[in-house]
Amino acid sequence: MADEIADFEKNLSGDQGKDQKTSWFRRIKKGILTKTSEKKETQEGLWTKCPECNYISTFAELKEQLFVCPKCGYHHRLNSSQYYEILFDNNEYTELFTNIRSKDFLGFTDLKPYKKRLEDIWKNNTNLKDSLRVAVGKVDGEEMVIACMDFEFIGGSLGSVMGEKFARAVDYCIQHRLPYMVINKSGGARMMESAFSLMQMAKTSGKLSQLSDAKLPYISLLTDPTFGGVSASFAMLGDLNIAEPGALIGFAGPRVIKETIKKDLPEGFQRSEFLLEHGFLDFIVNRKELKNKIATVIRLFKN
Ligand SMILES: [Zn+2]
Repeated sequence: MADEIADFEKNLSGDQGKDQKTSWFRRIKKGILTKTSEKKETQEGLWTKCPECNYISTFAELKEQLFVCPKCGYHHRLNSSQYYEILFDNNEYTELFTNIRSKDFLGFTDLKPYKKRLEDIWKNNTNLKDSLRVAVGKVDGEEMVIACMDFEFIGGSLGSVMGEKFARAVDYCIQHRLPYMVINKSGGARMMESAFSLMQMAKTSGKLSQLSDAKLPYISLLTDPTFGGVSASFAMLGDLNIAEPGALIGFAGPRVIKETIKKDLPEGFQRSEFLLEHGFLDFIVNRKELKNKIATVIRLFKN
C-alpha cells in the first residue's frame, strides 16, 4: 500500500514517489493514459492567441477583424470558406467541380497508405474534397472565379485534382469571360502522387497561357505559406502577384537553403516584405483592404 501512495510532484515526471509523507493526491497508475483519439478538445475557437505577439482575443472579436491581430497586424491563416466569406458579396457563391476526387494511382504508402489517408480526411471533413476549391461569385459587384487552397487537406499540396480543377477553372473563365484569382497556401507537390503531381506544374502553366491569350486577367495571391511546386509554377505567374503581409513564400525551406549554401540567411528571408523588395511581388495587401483592392484591379483590367 505504501508504494501505491504516490508523491504528487514526482508523479508529474512519471516517477513513483518514495516519500511516506501525507499525500494530497494519490495516483494509482503512472503517466498519461488517455489516448490521443480520446482526448477532448477545448471548444474550438472560443479564445485565440496571436502567435506573433501573444495577444488574446475572442474568436468573434478576431473574426470581426478578418482574422488580423488588432495589436500587431499578424494575419492568421485562413481556409477557403473564410476567404470566400471575406471576398464574395453576402457570402454568396457557387462552388464548381466538386465531383473530382483524388485517386491513389501508385499504391503509395508513407506513414499510412495514401488511399487510407484520403478516406480518413473525407470521412472527418465533409466539406473538403481536395486541397483546392473553385467558386464563382461577385466581389464588390465584379463577377469572378476564385480558386482557394486548404492547407488542412494534406498541406494544400499540389496533386492531380488541384491541377484538374485549376485547368477547368481556367476553361470556365474563358467560356464566361471572367477574371481568375488563386489564393495560394501550399507546402508544394503532393509526394504521394509523385510524377503525377509534378506534371501539374506544366499543365497549370499551359492553361494560364490560354487565359492570357483570351485577354483575361489572372491574380495570384500568396498567403502564408506558399512553397514548392506551387510557388514554382502558377503562384508566380500572375498578371499580378500579390501577397499578405508577413507570409512565408519560397521554393525550398530556409533550413535546406542554409545547409546548401553554408551561409546565414538575411533577416526576414522569404517573408513577403523581403520578396517585394527583391522584385518578386507587385504589392502586399492587408487583408482588410483585400476585397476592395481586388475589385479595383478587376475594374482597371476591364478598361
Ligand atoms: Zn498579434
